[in-house]
Amino acid sequence: MGERNEFKGKKFLVLGLAKSGYAAADLLHSLGAFVVVNDSSPETGNEEVKALRSKGIVVICGGHPEDILDHDFDTIVKNPGIPYHNPVLQQAKQKGIPIWTEIELAYMVSEAPIIAITGSNGKTTTTTLLYHILNIGGKKPLIAGNIGTVACTVAQNANPDEVIVMEVSSFQLAGTAQFQPKIAVWTNLYDAHLDYHGTREEYALAKSKVTENQTEEDFFIYNADQPEMRPYVERSTASKIPFSLQGKQAEGISADDEFIYWQGEPFVKRSIIKLLGQHNLENILAATASAILMNCDKVTIEDVLSSFTGVRHRMQFVKELKGRTFYNDSKATNTLATKSALSSFQSPVVLLAGGLDRGHSFEELRPYMSRVKAVLALGETADRLVDFATSCGVPKAVKVGSMEEAVQVAFSISQEGDQILLSPASASWDQYPNFEARGDAFIEAVMKL
Ligand code: ADP
Repeated sequence: MGERNEFKGKKFLVLGLAKSGYAAADLLHSLGAFVVVNDSSPETGNEEVKALRSKGIVVICGGHPEDILDHDFDTIVKNPGIPYHNPVLQQAKQKGIPIWTEIELAYMVSEAPIIAITGSNGKTTTTTLLYHILNIGGKKPLIAGNIGTVACTVAQNANPDEVIVMEVSSFQLAGTAQFQPKIAVWTNLYDAHLDYHGTREEYALAKSKVTENQTEEDFFIYNADQPEMRPYVERSTASKIPFSLQGKQAEGISADDEFIYWQGEPFVKRSIIKLLGQHNLENILAATASAILMNCDKVTIEDVLSSFTGVRHRMQFVKELKGRTFYNDSKATNTLATKSALSSFQSPVVLLAGGLDRGHSFEELRPYMSRVKAVLALGETADRLVDFATSCGVPKAVKVGSMEEAVQVAFSISQEGDQILLSPASASWDQYPNFEARGDAFIEAVMKL
């Protein structure tokens, strides 16, 4: 980070003290800003509060005082999770105080170019895959956002010869003003977070901010197979790189059964790709296009595509044992994700599924259940899942008491050539603290075999 003067003497209110709030407050303070941090939780024993106070930062915990905005703040940096109907933010809007998230700060202080990756699904996979390609290609990537370190912390330490690969959510993008990545990726658009954004239009609008400030010297990689994205694409003034799974296209990056094409020319053979699933092919196209734009050579890209087997807990290849292949897709906390997983397989699948019961339907899975030879049902949804699988004609559908039992039964009833897949179509909180712990339990049980 070079010399920066625009923050000196400015008054910032940092709203929300999670990892990102702490990082933002610390950064702003070091840049000479006057910083107040406000969090609604009580401060009992909070080490971060102590650390910030020891630096001279004002921290107010346990609620949002009504008069907090009387201090004439120049800008608010809010935690992405705080909704805009929060009374402090409502007041700030009326007063015309800009409301940012910390990725705006990251952009402002970064000396390295930024590649920002957003979308309803596939962010982590695309970000991780791209990071690997750039790393092998010697492009000095730094990973930031949800799967890495807080973006503004990464950005303040980044050098001009490095590149930041940043996973960004719609919540984060909503709080940007000048954010201008060198490369923006928008993987897809599905209904998500409507409780936060209100309408699908608002949600799409927030996502589209990833390209809003780009110029023709920047690149915007987007999903050309989603017509709903078109109006936002048309508005972008970046150089546009469409990706498509509808066979060879003259522009951008595309794929058919045989090749990935770059600008209409065969680029790499599909047969070298390890990562399973049509949905992952979208992520591969987006990451490959970004890598090409970063001048990575074809050999490097092929090298990574032929070895990358997925991100932990997302269609992650775990092990092959006596002809059975185990996949961990614990991140599939809804039926849409499990549908994507099932559609990746042609050979028979033994499905381990079930978890927290939100009363959600499994109907969306019905067209894919013909390739499922057995369902081992776990957790609160186990009974409903057994009924559903039976109604689909799945030959064996049984309730099991634990992950270990599920894996053992799966192994004993399977044959060579079968896929054993954990893809729960439900959240994990009925049995585990999070989906990571559930995936780890699966991996552990497989390793025990
Ligand atoms: P995110 O970071 O956006 O949540 P992940 O890469 O972690 O995305 O993938 C989460 C789940 O979303 C995966 O388990 C998979 O089922 C599904 N998924 C991933 N990529 C895509 C895609 N391009 N289109 C549709 N679904 C996808």
